[in-house]
Amino acid sequence: EPEETPAKPEFAPEPVAAYASVVLDIPTRALSEPFAYGIPRSIANEAQIGSTVLVHFGNRAAAGYIVDIAPELGDLQGINALDPARIKAIEAILSKPLFTAEAARIARWMSREYVATLSECLRLFLPPGGSPRVVKGDDGVWAVERPAVKPIQNRWVMLTPEGFDYTPPKTAVRQRQLIEALQCGPVTTRDLNLLYNSMSATIKALEKRGVVVVEERRAWRGCSEQTTLSSATGKAPVALTNGQKQALAQIERARLDAHGDVVLVDGVTGSGKTEVYLSAIERVLAAGRSACVLVPEISLTAQTVGRFRSRFGETVAVFHSRLSAGERLDQWDMVASGAARVVVGARSALFCPLDDPGLIIIDEEHETSYKQGSSPRYHAREVAAEMARRYRCPLVLGSATPSAEALDRCRRGTYNGATWTRVEMPERPGHAVLPTVRIADLRREFSHGSRSMFSKPLMEGLERVVERREKAVLLHNRRGFAPFLMCRECGCVPTCNHCSTALTYHERTHTLQCHTCGSSWRVQPYPAPTSRCPKCGSRYLAKMGLGTQQIEDALHQMLPEDVAIIRMDADSTRGKDAHKKLLERFDAADCAVLLGTQMIAKGLDFPEVTLVGVVNADFALKLPDFRAGERAYDLLEQVAGRAGRGDRPGEVIIQTYLPEDPVIRAVAEHDRSIFTDYDLDQRRDALYPPFVRLVNILVWSTKADDAQDYIGRIAKLLKRRWHAAAPDFLRAGRAVPQVLGPASCVIERAKDRYRFHLLVKSPVGYHVSDDIDACLKEVGSVRGVSVSVDVDAYDL
Ligand code: ADP
Ligand code: ZN
Ligand code: ZN
Repeated sequence: EPEETPAKPEFAPEPVAAYASVVLDIPTRALSEPFAYGIPRSIANEAQIGSTVLVHFGNRAAAGYIVDIAPELGDLQGINALDPARIKAIEAILSKPLFTAEAARIARWMSREYVATLSECLRLFLPPGGSPRVVKGDDGVWAVERPAVKPIQNRWVMLTPEGFDYTPPKTAVRQRQLIEALQCGPVTTRDLNLLYNSMSATIKALEKRGVVVVEERRAWRGCSEQTTLSSATGKAPVALTNGQKQALAQIERARLDAHGDVVLVDGVTGSGKTEVYLSAIERVLAAGRSACVLVPEISLTAQTVGRFRSRFGETVAVFHSRLSAGERLDQWDMVASGAARVVVGARSALFCPLDDPGLIIIDEEHETSYKQGSSPRYHAREVAAEMARRYRCPLVLGSATPSAEALDRCRRGTYNGATWTRVEMPERPGHAVLPTVRIADLRREFSHGSRSMFSKPLMEGLERVVERREKAVLLHNRRGFAPFLMCRECGCVPTCNHCSTALTYHERTHTLQCHTCGSSWRVQPYPAPTSRCPKCGSRYLAKMGLGTQQIEDALHQMLPEDVAIIRMDADSTRGKDAHKKLLERFDAADCAVLLGTQMIAKGLDFPEVTLVGVVNADFALKLPDFRAGERAYDLLEQVAGRAGRGDRPGEVIIQTYLPEDPVIRAVAEHDRSIFTDYDLDQRRDALYPPFVRLVNILVWSTKADDAQDYIGRIAKLLKRRWHAAAPDFLRAGRAVPQVLGPASCVIERAKDRYRFHLLVKSPVGYHVSDDIDACLKEVGSVRGVSVSVDVDAYDL
């Protein structure tokens, strides 16, 4: 926060040329809405939407961003009527625009849609690295300091025209190597030194003779060496399948219509969706526009990024959570400077400053990671649809297991004024066929006396893989499931005494840990018991559930020594590049088993994988969430899709205690409708999305009574409001919004705060956010009580 106060202007205030709405860069909710300032004539040309400005607020100096400009005070968006005489003037312009006027409008739309403050929505569009610092230089001039990294340069070596004809002497081996390496195009000195163990002397020698030249160009952190190299060769596009052609034609139609229409590419795993994206992007780039591709964090692997970089080369910027601060800034600069015209990234990449977006793609559209868990609690799909509408460009959604929301909108044909079209790609290109799926009924295995974690079919499958020297993928899904301790005598499961959630058992450190608040306790469970059941005092406090480690141990015992067993879970992928290295080991092995949590289910494309096993599918099915089925179906379908991607057919074996579950049957019979029909009926009966929009209002406080009282007042106001407006809703042919609760949350206490929530079910197409915002303003704030609103809530 700025400490100094600039001296009061000594001269009479300058005449004002126009007015600006300025959002202050101060993280206080009370100051998060824009304030009006005058734009003095002297800086009127520089003042633009997106500019960082220095203003006075109260008696201090602060940085802010212009979000709107208008000739008259009354025309400013989102500012209440003010007296022009009391308006202060902007002191100085501190930076050129950091975001566009369109970005400011999208931020305003988000703030309304998600009941979030404008400043937190705006922050998404700002360069990474946090708030700027406003400082006064020795010369008395104010300036803004943003985190920045020093640009780095790459030295590119290339052949001169004469160089192409130069034949080095027979004995000059190094020179021959260098000239051969440069035949396809420029290569950096770093790559050359890496590949050939120091080429510096040779480069110098040939530079003297005019055979090569060395040129410096800005390099961007976050673009790794190998990918720059492979871009030099560039892979030629393949001939497209009929399904791919159809999908492309539909995207092309949407592009030419320029209404912001949506195309859902509903293609089984391995059907070539990524290839469709690549071709669509090619056309957009040819038209002089840019493209943004969102990929779930979990599938943002080197493999995925490599495919984009090998097609589009140096014009691809990448955003994911493993980037260092410097890499993130450099990738951002790369986009802002126009050097990158394709962005591949997780959710937040949607907000980077692409110039003239002509296509937005969301791969694995159904993924829950597209929903942001903190304010603004946006869903990337919905924000992208709004952006597509404003930029008049297509939004392409891809999935093998589309969300109920996307399917429903395609069934209706339109949503929010845009056309939604579904294109199916039910087949894989070439010889690759869908794998056969077998169900191993664990109940039967158990009743036949088997106590092994591997059923007979799975064991036979693994033996076959070893015999034929192929590869297998084993999924040990632990989403929503972690090892815990349970008393075998009374059934008690130890819980956190701050949070009332079940504690997770960590075998390596002999601790019980709370994953809500981070508390931990040391334990010595059965069979080396010094810890006793907190309820009955029994010594039989034992571990439940299998860890990935245990399965790995069992595999080592079962399989011959020359089979590589590679475990991928949160523990084994902690280090930088650990993920990539494990996959490289799997790729290089002659015969191997890749065992992992859900992180291995997606995006991997290894043609030698012929067997996929699911150790226990039931953990995914039994979560207390109306989307549990959708998630489980997605997971199983995705992991099954890892098998048989090459010429050899694949087999999938799913172990379960619940073979009749519609999810399991749909996967086994390759018929999605078995699951989706059932799921849709359930949602219709219980009134869940896509039939309603869900809003979760959460209130928390260290004082339970305060929180309960507060949420009670919100509930009452909302109920009263909608009760009164009921005739209007009915007249408009709409259902009346419903209020469920208030109730205490599933996690009643977290970090010693008591949590209550209420659920709103709103008719689709109604702006329920406005009503909620109005009620929250009416209730006002109460000391020590926090509230959050989650529109289109996921985790209830
Ligand atoms: P998806 O994204 O739907 O899982 P991919 O685009 O990754 O599918 O394609 C799966 C595999 O098929 C990849 O190895 C890809 O190179 C290959 N492939 C895609 N389209 C074609 C095509 N038209 N002809 C031949 N092979 C293709
Ligand atoms: Zn007990
Ligand atoms: Zn806790």
